[in-house]
Amino acid sequence: MPTVAAIGERIGKYIDVPASAKGPAIDPAKGYRLQDLGGGLYLVTDNAYQSMLLVYDEGVVVVDAPPAYSARLPQAIAEVTAKPITHVVYSHSHIDHIGGTKALGGRPVIIAQDETAQLLKRAADPNRPLPTVTFADRYTLRVGTQVLELSYHGNAHEPGNIFIYAPAQRVLMVVDIIFPGWMPWRRFALAQDIPGYFAQVEEIRTLEWDTLVGGHVARTGTRADVAAQAEFNQDVKQAAATALAATKPGVGLNPLDAANPWAAFDNYIDRVAAHCVNTLTPKWSTRLAGFDVYVWDQCYAMEQSLRIE
Ligand SMILES: [Zn+2]
Repeated sequence: MPTVAAIGERIGKYIDVPASAKGPAIDPAKGYRLQDLGGGLYLVTDNAYQSMLLVYDEGVVVVDAPPAYSARLPQAIAEVTAKPITHVVYSHSHIDHIGGTKALGGRPVIIAQDETAQLLKRAADPNRPLPTVTFADRYTLRVGTQVLELSYHGNAHEPGNIFIYAPAQRVLMVVDIIFPGWMPWRRFALAQDIPGYFAQVEEIRTLEWDTLVGGHVARTGTRADVAAQAEFNQDVKQAAATALAATKPGVGLNPLDAANPWAAFDNYIDRVAAHCVNTLTPKWSTRLAGFDVYVWDQCYAMEQSLRIE
């Protein structure tokens, strides 16, 4: 069993990334790859970020424009069509997913959920132009014979983060929730609402789709990937709950710190997190890539959520 270094400890090498987490290689000369999702829908990725192109008879709908490769999006589009970008859909407001929108040029119709529009107004970032079409719960984008169904399922990762479904292609895109083959990014991918995040993973499992686009990592997701993440979530929740119940406050605390409640709490929570990490390691350390990188963050986020949410 691989060992997981204590948090903050510098180590020489993290646990190897399993083959199941890897995707097709990127041509370094291009810096991106295009994956045909069928029916005029394409994944564009640099194997770290993911966005989509939907081609219809008069143009192209771009779903997210990560600045990591937005300068290459016109080249990616030219591989499949000479038609112009007419629409951009924002999955959510975060700069790392849509900060390349302005650089695409033109004056596309930009569609986003109401909360995303509010966050973008506050950000006042010229690289993330304000949406021209907003919606609260559902919006169906029909362009030519192509359809994208946009829907809002409440806060999890951040307010305004939407589900984007291509019914003809049976592709569901939900960004920053599921990381196929990988441990979620730290603290459940910075979920602003952890119970909401857990609920969205379960909701994704109940929906009809064949291919999941998660917005990150080197490949698309399967139903087995979502089931694995849901199982991991339940295991973290159980491990943190058990750790909270089994850990006594104050044990090992320097008596000279007895009048410092924050020090006492730090001592307590560190022991809770260690208990949680040790519980998860045998089952998960080689099953999800990056387990040892972020498991501490997941345990800290989980114990906090269980105590106060
Ligand atoms: Zn995000």
